Amino acid sequence: MKNLDKLKQPPKVATASKLILLLAVIFFSFIYFNAFAQKITINAIGYKLAEADTVALNRLVKQEANLYNGLFDNAIPDSLPVVINIYKNRKEFLQEWNDNKEIMLPGGYYKPTNQQCYVYKDGNYFSVILHEVSHRFMHYNNYSGVPKWINEGLSEFFEALYIADNKGIYVDEQTPRLKRVKDYLKDNRLNLKEFLSIDTQQAWNKKDDVTLRFDVAYSILFFIIKTHPEFIKQIFAALKQGKDSYTALGFVYGSYQLFETRFKQFYR
Ligand SMILES: [Zn+2]
Repeated sequence: MKNLDKLKQPPKVATASKLILLLAVIFFSFIYFNAFAQKITINAIGYKLAEADTVALNRLVKQEANLYNGLFDNAIPDSLPVVINIYKNRKEFLQEWNDNKEIMLPGGYYKPTNQQCYVYKDGNYFSVILHEVSHRFMHYNNYSGVPKWINEGLSEFFEALYIADNKGIYVDEQTPRLKRVKDYLKDNRLNLKEFLSIDTQQAWNKKDDVTLRFDVAYSILFFIIKTHPEFIKQIFAALKQGKDSYTALGFVYGSYQLFETRFKQFYR
């Protein structure tokens, strides 16, 4: 699921992005350059998607699948259907949504029951699509029980994929989210251990502090990918063995406390 605060994102910054991409390439390199044909179905509902947008979306989703393949031992098969429903009409978009007053209204969501992505077409809908497709790939990897922070954090990381000058694909930095995380830490508003234990959709999407949760989830993934990208795969492997978030992080960092200390140092 995707919240709606993307509009605050400033224009893309090529230098920072390239650095992140470079790390991503090192991390995922064994499969990065393999061309393959993901089965992508884009249903534009109530309008016609421009040909150039279809081409761009296909490129970005294929790249996302490539990057995902670097994270798991199971490669995503070309035949895996990726269905993206894009709505121009907000009411129609929300028809598939189980409304609940306690939680925020989304800009997009992934429906595990039919494994399809639903996206409202606003100015940032490309990133919302990439966000929801990340949930689809995560679901394929049998991680429906994966902790919310890593599922949403990775979706937030991948939603910042973009094509520059009609050529290369880069990962942008979500600067406003990182800036807010520095403030949460400064103001002592963040209990990281408590945050990592949020495990239900209901608790995660509660209106109170929903932005904080997406910010922090993203900042953790950003921190790990930027400093130790190889840790991501190891954390997933530990989670798959049934370890909880603290144990998985402790396993790669030496101790959970060390993870927390390094995270806080990074955003000081
Ligand atoms: Zn999400």
